[in-house]
Amino acid sequence: MMLIQKSGRDRNLDIIGIYHSHPDCEAVPSECDRLAAWSQYSYLIVSVRQGVAQDCLCWTLDEEDQFQREPFQLEPFTVQPST
Ligand SMILES: [Zn+2]
Repeated sequence: MMLIQKSGRDRNLDIIGIYHSHPDCEAVPSECDRLAAWSQYSYLIVSVRQGVAQDCLCWTLDEEDQFQREPFQLEPFTVQPST
């Protein structure tokens, strides 16, 4: 995580969130997710069923360290390789 944060800083990019998938499970954060979460980030969770992405939800921690749904919109983009 520290390497990614440094890479972002070096490229003037802000890390606003972290994503991961839940194989054959809902796109709802687990207790393990909650305990590992940091309040400054959004957490995008992709539900993958039988190898195919089915659902994608975004979450953020509230003041009581409980996840709440967060509206989001995905837009296509291209990542430029760093030089
Ligand atoms: Zn999870």
